[in-house]
Amino acid sequence: MHQLTLTDISKALAAKQFSARELTTHLLARIEQLDPQLNSFITVSKESALQQADAADELRSSGINAPLLGLPIAHKDLFCTEGVRTSCASKTLDNFIAPYTATVVDKLNKVGCISLGKLNMDEFAMGSSGETSFYGPSKNPWDTQRIPGGSSSGSAVAVAARLVPASTGSDSGGSIRQPAAFTGLTGIKPTYGRISRWGMTAYASSFDQAGFLAHNAEDCAMLLQATAGFDERDSTSAQQQVDDYAAALSLPLQGLRIGLPKEYFSSDLDSRIGDVVNNSIEQLKQLGATFVDISLPSLPHAVSAYYVIASAEASTNLARFDGVRFGHRCENPQNLEDLYLRSRDEAFGKEVKRRIMIGTYALSTGYYDAYYLKAQKIRRLIKNDFVSAFKDVDLILGPTTPNLPWLIGSKIDDPVAAYLEDIYTVPANLAGIPGLSMPAGMIDGLPVGVQLLAPYFQEARLLQVAHQFQQHTDWHARTPAGF
Ligand code: GLN
Repeated sequence: MHQLTLTDISKALAAKQFSARELTTHLLARIEQLDPQLNSFITVSKESALQQADAADELRSSGINAPLLGLPIAHKDLFCTEGVRTSCASKTLDNFIAPYTATVVDKLNKVGCISLGKLNMDEFAMGSSGETSFYGPSKNPWDTQRIPGGSSSGSAVAVAARLVPASTGSDSGGSIRQPAAFTGLTGIKPTYGRISRWGMTAYASSFDQAGFLAHNAEDCAMLLQATAGFDERDSTSAQQQVDDYAAALSLPLQGLRIGLPKEYFSSDLDSRIGDVVNNSIEQLKQLGATFVDISLPSLPHAVSAYYVIASAEASTNLARFDGVRFGHRCENPQNLEDLYLRSRDEAFGKEVKRRIMIGTYALSTGYYDAYYLKAQKIRRLIKNDFVSAFKDVDLILGPTTPNLPWLIGSKIDDPVAAYLEDIYTVPANLAGIPGLSMPAGMIDGLPVGVQLLAPYFQEARLLQVAHQFQQHTDWHARTPAGF
């Protein structure tokens, strides 16, 4: 049962091959047995998952056959879930029980999804390895010595190890696409504003976007359909009509023009990953797509601009964790300043502190123009690069990551080296366009992802190309040994 995709499960439940309770019980047992070596869950919601499963089974037996009814998923631990701890993988929120539920989770609950629990991540979504979590790193099931990517580390590991068929994640600079690439999954980051951010703890508000990790594009389409749309509680959510994603999947690729940006194939790229990307290009050509060389000239500045703006936004967003209104409070404070200083010092990890300091510096008088304002100008240039590229092409294709997943601990003392690994994913967040990573090959037993980028609100096109690719390849169907 644990090898099935969401789409398979939906059919099997409708055909009464097994019940939601049987499936949920089976997955909870797998989590208990296998997760101690992987560390993908922070909280397992056993009781409530079984209750949700029974409710789904009852609705099915009364003749209701909604497609997502009884499908098990799990949520990145930055989505607020009423009555369940929402820790953001930080000591400061270790005992925070959310008083309300994020819109994404709420919408999925309402269509009948079962939540198995809350997933590990980099602290406050700052990181690309999962190692900054207060609860310790998650391990990549393809090689447990290696990182699974981040910040949606647990979201990737739990799905790749078949503990749950799909998960929610968030992507501010690559946190869905990069871990999807490193664990052999399909991950979609929709357009900024496509899905409500209400109840999703803010890291860098002008980049943050919820999305999904699953085995294939068809499953991502199903989850996106259930969650996309305007939410009056999120002023940045888009008042834009939601497409029929399932209908787009079967459209042929004939006539589709795909751009290959030369900046995505520079010397930073591991040439073996370059070969995987080239093979996927050949495959898509056979399916009718044509390829055009393009250029995104401002791309080399993307990482610097991203880390200045994201840190600036993080430094203001995290000001609320002061030990008074939210977050850990130190023992016996001497005065208010001591309370702030010690509470924050005791409860934030090293990477979070680093970003708060960089962000505060970049926003301070005298440095604002030199750093923050300049970064915003670069951001506009990158957006303009994409807008003009999409006048000629329907989509853009390139690698998701320049390198394979690295060994746990190997970059922990070199944050800039880790930041540079985000070179191919941050541009989409700077521009706000949607992106998807799909499995496209293996190197030395490790999965490799290929990234697709589309114009604003063209998620359907991303899903269509990935689905057509997956109809003719089986990279997305491979399972790590032992899982
Ligand atoms: N790796 C990037 C960072 O650390 C992206 C994180 C994310 O997308 N949440 O900021």
